[in-house]
Amino acid sequence: MVKYLIPALILSIVGCQPQSQEQSVKHEAGPITLVIHGGAGTIRRENMTPEKEAAYHAALKTALDSGYAILEKGGKSVDAVIAAIKVMEDSPLFNAGKGAVFTNEGKNELDASIMDGSNLMAGAVAGVTTIKNPITAAHAVMTKSEHVMMIGRGAEIFAEEQGCEIVHPTYFFDSARYKSLMKAKENENDKSALLYDPYIKDQKFGTVGAVALDQYGNMAAGTSTGGMTNKKYGRVGDAPIIGAGTYADNNSCGISATGWGEFFIRLGVARDIAALVEYKGYSIQQAADSVVMKKLPKLGGDGGVIVLDRQGNFALTFCSEGMYRGHINKKGEAKTFIYKD
Ligand code: ASP
Repeated sequence: MVKYLIPALILSIVGCQPQSQEQSVKHEAGPITLVIHGGAGTIRRENMTPEKEAAYHAALKTALDSGYAILEKGGKSVDAVIAAIKVMEDSPLFNAGKGAVFTNEGKNELDASIMDGSNLMAGAVAGVTTIKNPITAAHAVMTKSEHVMMIGRGAEIFAEEQGCEIVHPTYFFDSARYKSLMKAKENENDKSALLYDPYIKDQKFGTVGAVALDQYGNMAAGTSTGGMTNKKYGRVGDAPIIGAGTYADNNSCGISATGWGEFFIRLGVARDIAALVEYKGYSIQQAADSVVMKKLPKLGGDGGVIVLDRQGNFALTFCSEGMYRGHINKKGEAKTFIYKD
């Protein structure tokens, strides 16, 4: 019995710890890069205050710095993606983790996924209500199970077994998000509200994602979200679906998406971008443009993607009015943006 308990205990301790054991190994340094997004949508200057803008820039910068700290020490891209996403999951500013939006039933159901471009391993969780950092649970699914996606209560039990931090569902309560739900419900049948009110039109703000390239030339991508305000109980968007909201392959690029999830699923946005790079030799900018600026709006969807390739080139592309986003280069120089200009 003890023979089985000890390895299980060790597993449960390391399962949700993203730190890599290879961090101390010296390698020839490559062009480490990290790109992140904090969601796309109808993000307009007139709906912002200078304080709110500054808070978003600061949170994005903290996320970039924490991912960079791992890459800079020789850490792995997967660990950098987790570190950056955890910062945004812990911030109420983003629709992920702490700031997750509410379902039609007044609950918070969270989705996340991660993919390792070096071996095409992937992990995802969907519809979870008690995992503080769903990205760590997605990582545990990828590294500690034989599966790619786990949902609901089963995913929560597994995450707990792997040592992920579990919280009471009320941890995710945020009064501003709750007000958005009330507003969305009030206006559910008012079609004109869809046209003028960004909160009603979008019903989502601030899904988070990260794509990293480490000094070993390995790509990783991850995405985490609360989904869309007023989503019907049990609805799952693109964020936890490998090939829709997240994809990473050292042979092409890494992608994390944000936007109206149903359209991203129908187009297989992340995989489509990677396929254009892999099979057609498109640059990542051309690939992102042809999917996000052409196919997506043509179908009636909107949103954006962050894409990074193995040379450290990146594209931060969106067809919505804004996208919280940023990048940090090998020298640790970070830039963050909100609007188109
Ligand atoms: N893509 C997310 C979803 O549909 C929402 C978002 O990115 O804002 O669940």
